[in-house]
Amino acid sequence: MSAIYQVDLDAFARNLARVRAAIAPARHMLVVKDDAYAHGLERIVERAWAEGVEWFGAFDVATGRAVRAVVGPEARIFVWLLGGPQDLADGIADDLDLGIGDEALLDDLAHLPVPSTPARVHLKIDTGLHRNGIRPERWSAALELLSGLVDSGVARFEGLWSHIAEASDADDDDAREIFLAARSTAVAAGLSPTFSHLAASAAGFARAPFREDLVRVGAFSYGIRPAGGPGEAELGIEPIGGLVATVTDVDADRVRVDIGHLHGVPSALAGRFSATTPAGPRRVLAIEPTTSVIDGWPGAAEGDEVTVFGRGGAASATDLAEMIDTIGEEIALRVSPNIPRRYTANGPRPAQ
Ligand SMILES: *Cc1c(COP(=O)(O)O)cnc(C)c1O
Repeated sequence: MSAIYQVDLDAFARNLARVRAAIAPARHMLVVKDDAYAHGLERIVERAWAEGVEWFGAFDVATGRAVRAVVGPEARIFVWLLGGPQDLADGIADDLDLGIGDEALLDDLAHLPVPSTPARVHLKIDTGLHRNGIRPERWSAALELLSGLVDSGVARFEGLWSHIAEASDADDDDAREIFLAARSTAVAAGLSPTFSHLAASAAGFARAPFREDLVRVGAFSYGIRPAGGPGEAELGIEPIGGLVATVTDVDADRVRVDIGHLHGVPSALAGRFSATTPAGPRRVLAIEPTTSVIDGWPGAAEGDEVTVFGRGGAASATDLAEMIDTIGEEIALRVSPNIPRRYTANGPRPAQ
């Protein structure tokens, strides 16, 4: 055996159930950007769909298409990185929900052939993050453009949305005020969105007024807790992925395993955490390009498996992240695509 990223799809299903309960009656939009936070898009989407997840947050059109290929025509797939007319046309062709955060894209939409069914537009108000989104002072102008598209059958006002920092309650409250004002302005202009969505994992769990109709949950779905925030047990989630290395060499009181910083384990973590060996936790002493050195244990043998972080290990992705001032997603996303993903599952829950 060599190194793998081991993903437990049954644990994933438990997280999905937990997310569903935590945000009810809002619905879960499972965010699957970055290859489902490096857990592998296809198997994650397939299982989520079997578990009753109906909305997927896919980032760009290419990812949206990949999700569509797994789930078929019924699922709702929201994409929010749209580069121009070609992306719009492709998104419409794949029946994606289009997150639009600038007026130029509304204009592009107006110049496309009128689709056979109106494109589902989710208009984004910039509530302070300044990561695209219509600025409040341009909101009325954007609504006017949208109104024209609705009247001509090109678009439907399917959603109002924004993204918030979830770093301070006060900033999030300010953002929500802008969001609510944008909705009032839209409604007053005769445009009522079918869905509103604002929150991601943290605010979706902690702050009921932010849940609206949909909560776009990525991190917590994969069992990645927030850095500096509540623990997994408190949140009711569990890591679903674990990075498992294999012993290649035993040298007196040290062992070498086949994962190094080129596979995504930051070398700054050397000496600062323990991997989980068959004999329990052992300190990771050095992280080299393609291998690492760990404190040995009696009976250590070539082929033994060692969990570096995540499911089955002593340290979670977020535990490691906190040691080097980053977030758990960053640690998970660094796991090289060259490390095979391996899945365990007892299968989806029986249909209810
Ligand atoms: C990544 C992302 C999310 C999910 O955030 P988590 O904190 O991982 O739940 C939600 N919405 C947008 C727009 C995102 O880019």
